Amino acid sequence: MSIRTKFFNRIDALTPELIELTQELVKTPSENPPGDERGVSGVVSERLEALGFKVELVESEPRRVNTLGRLEGSGRGRKFLFNGHYDTVPVGDLDFWSVDPFGGLVKEGRIYGRGSGDMKGAIASAIIAAKALDEAGIRLKGDFMIHGVADEETFGRYGTRFLAEKGYVSPRNVDMAVVGEGSMKDGRIHARTAVRGRVLVNLKVRGKSAHSSRPQDGVNAVLKMSKVLLAIDAHGFDFPPHSLLPAPTIAPGTVIKGGTKGNVIPELCEAISDVRIVPGMTVEGVLGEIQGIVDGLKEEDPELDVEVSSPLNKPPSEIPASHELFQVADEAVRATVGYELKPVGTSGSNDTSWLTTVAGIPAMAFGPGGGNAHGADEWTSIEMLVDFAKIYGLMAMDICGVE
Ligand SMILES: [Zn+2]
Repeated sequence: MSIRTKFFNRIDALTPELIELTQELVKTPSENPPGDERGVSGVVSERLEALGFKVELVESEPRRVNTLGRLEGSGRGRKFLFNGHYDTVPVGDLDFWSVDPFGGLVKEGRIYGRGSGDMKGAIASAIIAAKALDEAGIRLKGDFMIHGVADEETFGRYGTRFLAEKGYVSPRNVDMAVVGEGSMKDGRIHARTAVRGRVLVNLKVRGKSAHSSRPQDGVNAVLKMSKVLLAIDAHGFDFPPHSLLPAPTIAPGTVIKGGTKGNVIPELCEAISDVRIVPGMTVEGVLGEIQGIVDGLKEEDPELDVEVSSPLNKPPSEIPASHELFQVADEAVRATVGYELKPVGTSGSNDTSWLTTVAGIPAMAFGPGGGNAHGADEWTSIEMLVDFAKIYGLMAMDICGVE
């Protein structure tokens, strides 16, 4: 029996455990906000330690826990990282759910619940891949790492971004990485090699309050803000077209706050604009252009007092399909499901940005996903989880090498 067949057989035999682990992760809430990954981290740490992983817990902030698991290879191979985020978006209005969001219901080949598809199922697949390698007697030459991370849903400040900036992940300890975000399209497995970046632009306009029966005595900050938002909306970015990604988008005023009382001219108005950018564009470049728009308006209107800042942002990221990481994934997909892997882009954003741009590690989003992510009745497919457990295991064998 070939080593691959042996490994596949172990995954098939471990399918009940894969389902049960996904259920356990779903039953352990980790909604963000507020953000608390301790429970999920506990479940994952225990599983990893039982498999011989060395586990380091990195608490970037109180309650924000990252689990860095490392299965040490014999030392002569390359290092492969699976990165999966623990946090989920909140459940939202329970009236829209027909199942318990933390119940982990299994029905007709699916596992339901908040985080099942985004992305606790993928984390379970990676852990079961490690278990199957072990049970099949496969010893890797390089390190196989599984990182469970905090805070992906709110820009990774306490998760992957933190780990990249502080050197927990770097080319010294990781050669290639996959982020387990869903990458299915039209029912087939794809790899998201390109991802848009995201710049949340905070605008603060200061005016002057006055009695609203005498508006001429004040400066209406809300009216001034509306000018700024309309100017931003009319702006077109210069950008290099990307074959896999939609063009950059600007959504001005996704949040706006201003005014205190019906009969008072508002003296303060704050707004957020959400800008999505493509490779070739930078966060700094976008902020520079927005500042330019504001400066132009200020020249026409000396009363305009605006402050531009961006505490939350994420750079765009991509790897070419010619990259070895994609080629290795293609091999694994062919061996598992028998078709060719195709690259796709993603219009949202994810943690690959921090790995490629800050840590300097080639990474792509590659995972089972599911349906209704961020919505009610979120689910993942058991068949996909099994396929990805096989795929992640084959990639570890290929990248790390086998004794
Ligand atoms: Zn996700």
